Amino acid sequence: MVIYGGIADDFTGATDLAAAWRSRGLRTAVVLGLDDQAASTDGLNHHDAVVVALKIRTAPVAEAVDAARRAARLLRELGARQLYSKYCSTFDSTPAGNIGPVLDALSEGDCRGQAPGAVVVVPAFPAAGRTVYQGHLFVGEELLENSSMRHHPLTPMTGSHLPTLLEPQTGHRVGLVPWATVQSGAQAVRAGLDRLGSDGVRYAVVDALTAADLTTIAVATSEDPIVSGGSGLAAGLPQRPDRPTAIPTVPGHRAIVAGSASAATRGQVAAAREHLPHQRLDLDALRANLPGEVERLRTWASRCWAEEPEQPVLIYAVGELAHVQDDPQVAVLVEEALAACAVRMADDGARRFVVAGGETSGAVATALGVRALTLGASLGPGLAWAHGLGAGRGGDPATGFNLVLKSGNFGTPTLFVDAWEHLA
Ligand code: ADP
Repeated sequence: MVIYGGIADDFTGATDLAAAWRSRGLRTAVVLGLDDQAASTDGLNHHDAVVVALKIRTAPVAEAVDAARRAARLLRELGARQLYSKYCSTFDSTPAGNIGPVLDALSEGDCRGQAPGAVVVVPAFPAAGRTVYQGHLFVGEELLENSSMRHHPLTPMTGSHLPTLLEPQTGHRVGLVPWATVQSGAQAVRAGLDRLGSDGVRYAVVDALTAADLTTIAVATSEDPIVSGGSGLAAGLPQRPDRPTAIPTVPGHRAIVAGSASAATRGQVAAAREHLPHQRLDLDALRANLPGEVERLRTWASRCWAEEPEQPVLIYAVGELAHVQDDPQVAVLVEEALAACAVRMADDGARRFVVAGGETSGAVATALGVRALTLGASLGPGLAWAHGLGAGRGGDPATGFNLVLKSGNFGTPTLFVDAWEHLA
């Protein structure tokens, strides 16, 4: 029976939340998008937690709200008692949204029921260096506004005080549960949330500096119909005795498809180039003849596997920042090409993929026809192998794929080389 229902504003955010729940011993699945719900939710009732992966971080507000409402309805139908609105731990949003509008939609009417307390806002994720103190979000040692997020092309974060960031996005008041209260324990946090709620405050940013703080907040909100945050709050749930749900392992060739330009991915590409066969997308060739470039890479990969079938092959878009072209059309071409490469490699027998980048993961999973994922054991914060259900093109629908869908900035430098060892 589904207890927890996640609504994630992007695909890798969904696998991040799912990996956190799985690491606490919950049987967890991810539904990729809201198309063809009947196919993707079939058989999910026996999971403890289900996350719906949406692509609404920078969508028009009305579209984001509509998708979040539909996801909430689906999760409630599956039996979810608590909805978890998952956004980025760097609070990626603009004054127009979409964190506030989505929270407003989820916390109105029936969804929130009669719960009197303020809804928590917990982006803190200490394992990834995100902490919140006096309502200010820090990335490592820096305030959010001084981190690289200041220059994000779509959601530049030029402030760090979360109540000030959230208030313009919602018609409701935003308060704070300070760290001193969190230190006093779950009952104190609960009392603080109820007090704010009865004063007419809809949302409460809660300070958190450590994993123990997140556990305190998770315990305080265990009965809340709605919570919100990065994946840290989910990782704060008390550990359940692990009910093993070893995912099926699908035999087949191995490939890494990296479309992210993030620092962590560039480091992983550099480390993998030392050990694995690798090819970078040729952007000029791509512009001139996309199918031709895809075919070149496919032929190269199948030659590698002919020599060594177990060897992972790496296809990547960016080795160094100079490779990035400031042209949205190039970004779309790269996504299209990497997705096509994945499908072609699947046609040739690839069944195990590590995919780097949020947008890239969405493009690849969709192209492979994967509608839902069951999460396996953790590969580190925000990362896990998954088994893709409902496999379509390229794969055998009866067996599907094994996938790691990785946010650009996640993972250790050697992830592309050693992730495979964790897939028993
Ligand atoms: P991350 O999780 O690091 O943000 P994403 O996959 O979400 O990674 O985003 C990376 C984006 O950059 C994708 O749209 C991808 O197609 C695009 N991209 C990749 N390589 C290049 C390049 N050389 N020039 C321009 N855009 C690129």
